[in-house]
Amino acid sequence: MNSFDVIIVGGGHAGCEAALASARLGARTVLVTMALDQIAAMSCNPSIGGTAKGHLVKEIDALGGVMAKVIDHTTIQFRTLNKSRGPAIWSSRAQADMAAYSKLMIQTIQNQPNLFCIQDQVMGLIIQSHTVKGVHTKVFGRLISQTVVITTGTFLSGMIHIGTTQIPSGRSYEKPSQALSDFFQTSTSLRCGRLKTGTPPRLDGRTIHWTHLKPQPSDEDIIPFSFSHPTLPSPQLICMHITETNPTTHQLIADNLNQSALYNGQVEACGPRYCPSIEDKVVRFDRPHHQIFLEPVGLNSHEIYPNGISTSLPISVQQQMIHSIKGLEQAHLLKPGYAIEYDYLDPTQLKGSLETKSFIGLFLAGQINGTTGYEEAAAQGLMAGINAARQSQNKQPVILKRSEAYIGVLIDDLVVKGTQEPYRMFTSRCEHRLSLREDNADIRLTPIGRKIGLVSDEDNQRFCHTKQQLDQGDDLLSKLKLGDLKGFHHSSLVPSDHPGTSVKQIIKRNQSNILSIKNHHPQLAQIPDRILIRLEIDIRYAGYINLDRQKMNTHQNLSKIKIPQGFPYSQVGGLSTEVIEKLSMNQPENLDQASRISGITPSALGQLRVYIKNYASHSQHLDLPHSL
Ligand code: FAD
Repeated sequence: MNSFDVIIVGGGHAGCEAALASARLGARTVLVTMALDQIAAMSCNPSIGGTAKGHLVKEIDALGGVMAKVIDHTTIQFRTLNKSRGPAIWSSRAQADMAAYSKLMIQTIQNQPNLFCIQDQVMGLIIQSHTVKGVHTKVFGRLISQTVVITTGTFLSGMIHIGTTQIPSGRSYEKPSQALSDFFQTSTSLRCGRLKTGTPPRLDGRTIHWTHLKPQPSDEDIIPFSFSHPTLPSPQLICMHITETNPTTHQLIADNLNQSALYNGQVEACGPRYCPSIEDKVVRFDRPHHQIFLEPVGLNSHEIYPNGISTSLPISVQQQMIHSIKGLEQAHLLKPGYAIEYDYLDPTQLKGSLETKSFIGLFLAGQINGTTGYEEAAAQGLMAGINAARQSQNKQPVILKRSEAYIGVLIDDLVVKGTQEPYRMFTSRCEHRLSLREDNADIRLTPIGRKIGLVSDEDNQRFCHTKQQLDQGDDLLSKLKLGDLKGFHHSSLVPSDHPGTSVKQIIKRNQSNILSIKNHHPQLAQIPDRILIRLEIDIRYAGYINLDRQKMNTHQNLSKIKIPQGFPYSQVGGLSTEVIEKLSMNQPENLDQASRISGITPSALGQLRVYIKNYASHSQHLDLPHSL
């Protein structure tokens, strides 16, 4: 009864994806979490997606994960961000009904065959000879398994700060996870650090003067997150409003900085650079106003999340601060804002599969690896769940390349470079971003998800139909000439155009969009707009994508040159002490990973390459390509 193929610890965004993926791949899985009714709780902002995070959600869906499907059913307002910029960085964002999201995720988990849930606290791991054998829990005792995925978020030694008040807590007054934190510190050699994040106070929507504020509408033309959903299941609302701070707010904050836990020395850990507290914004940026988005947390709640003013000031100052803002003059505070400090484990101790290098069968995913964000957590959870299940079935891990997916970039950044501050995904982190777009996540990843057994028959059929439409549309567009378009006259045509000019050439010119051409050819007119828009993006980016492919090949060749664990870097002639130290500490799995560790110069890489070649000819360990 107490023996499982895979144990998942923690029912947050990482844990849910991990548990569902593992069970769906046929592993007998148990999800152990401290509160079953808090599964998939949103600790902070009531939304999923946003810049680059939207890409992660689409990729999770394409691989067979659940986040996209759940948010599509529970969103109350949907928008595409960066629409005025290139399609590579268009990012979907959905305002969530938090309670409905959590409820639907709980139902999905409860209905999943092969997946069991236990409400309990994991206190430590059972480890023998650097191999995981299970976990110790507080109430149920020992649970046995050869593979364990830890996804404990901000709970390890969590400490909340509000002014000078400190409360041991994992997330708004939930119990922290102290014993497991102590276990990592005292019973393993894993390196731990401290990070922090924060959240704003929550307001009672009935006490806000909405008529004084600017509403923000939903998009009209919505492409849902999940490739399985042609439209969003429920209607969208105008529910977000915008207000802003002002010089009075800023003066109040400046006058009370000595009472902020972030500024009085009480919190020393590093916070998210791109999601600063309002105290940070006032100190660091010389601006008279900062925008605040007032976001409802759900349809059946009056609670409002004021996005943009996370704070750890005392409650009395938080109240004054809120009342100084337009529309919030009489707003009632439901919950205070707070900062939270927690332990994370240095992710360079992980392999690309998210298994720890030092303990066989121990996988880590989510905020415990130094990331911030539901989407970053879910993406890691999915991969850790897949790889834990596969390990329990003696199968090779699935490791996505940087050239295949944002998920590949996220995990590669973590395991190769590590992080000293909460890591969040950005489009700028992805060197292949013209190729890795939201719109083509299914083409990139669904075949992988299907091959490993995670994409259902129904979703795969839908994917095959889309792929067929894209292929047929591409064939047609490759053949079409200007002379085939009946009655097409457009300002984008130039004097050198003639009836033999290819239609792809005309589309490439940017001014004429594919939908303006559509109705001038009977076969084109039959292709759905959504497919045509995808084809148009591919045509526009074709030149860049070809160049990108050449770069990808170089990286792929380097990634084939494997470096065995415990490789004797100190014996490689000509490497500096700094390079030897960094390589020995990071233990890269291949030469491509080594090339991305900061401080590893091209000449160090060349020396390493030669040494590996010679080492390989004297050793059976290495799996080298013929080109070496
Ligand atoms: P979590 O969602 O935290 O889930 C952890 C789970 O593990 C919980 O279910 C918990 O009960 C369980 N657990 C912990 N210890 C044990 C144990 N020993 N045994 C059993 N179960 C255990 N992200 C953003 O993108 N933007 C933000 O502005 C933002 N602000 C944040 C503000 C605060 C105050 C907090 C707490 C988080 C914030 N985040 C923000 C981060 C976001 O909430 C997390 O990145 C995300 O929830 C992490 O997912 P996870 O699955 O790793 O962990």
